[in-house]
Amino acid sequence: MITLKTDTQIAYMKKANQIVRDTLNLLIEHTKAGVSTYELDRLAREYIFSQNAKPSFLHYNGFPASICVSVDCEVVHGIPSKKKVLEEGQIVSYDCGAIFNGWHGDAARTVGVGLISPECQQLIDVTEQCFFKGVESIVAGVTRLGDLGHVIQSHAESFGYGVVRELVGHGIGRQMHEDPEVPNYGISGHGIRLTEGMTIAIEPMITMGTERVDWMEDGWTVKTRDRKPASHYENTIAITSHGIEILSL
Ligand code: MG
Ligand code: MG
Repeated sequence: MITLKTDTQIAYMKKANQIVRDTLNLLIEHTKAGVSTYELDRLAREYIFSQNAKPSFLHYNGFPASICVSVDCEVVHGIPSKKKVLEEGQIVSYDCGAIFNGWHGDAARTVGVGLISPECQQLIDVTEQCFFKGVESIVAGVTRLGDLGHVIQSHAESFGYGVVRELVGHGIGRQMHEDPEVPNYGISGHGIRLTEGMTIAIEPMITMGTERVDWMEDGWTVKTRDRKPASHYENTIAITSHGIEILSL
């Protein structure tokens, strides 16, 4: 069931999303070789609590940390750990959620650790472009989920990249994951229409090679099957009477 939100509810969601945005910026500031992902998780958790919010991910279905940190071929859901230390040349994605006053925010960013290859930088840039091209294509009451997915997929595939099929974006609100599912692939003219009051997380997960992924034995981490790098970029958006608002920017 899709729950539509009022302008007041969207304002609460914006607050949650701005805490997420600021947490991600803090993580990006602290991204450097030698930092453990455990330390980054601690930073994020302390910041979110200092804002009178709670990390949405902590204990979600048993997830043991406040953020997901996924390095290189890890697509999403990487678990922070003292043993996992960032190294020069890696690309790292941070996925963060916060709940404020009963409303969730959700966003993700991928950045390089120090100097990275031009190939990895392009993958990161194109993943962001996929998000913005998708958002810019939305016309409230007209655009269907298949149209949105098609825009994202076409842009990624024009660079020869893979679009992960098994993980998708989602509605968001009082729950972190609500209906509808928001795939990063699709067929124009198919799926439900995006209408005023909908709040969704759009999150392209783009790979340098195959779109196939493997789930690791820790029960969380998802890696590309060919172990080539992947990038993830996400924001929560609201479809309002005054247009599309990106809540986590
Ligand atoms: Mg997320
Ligand atoms: Mg999400």
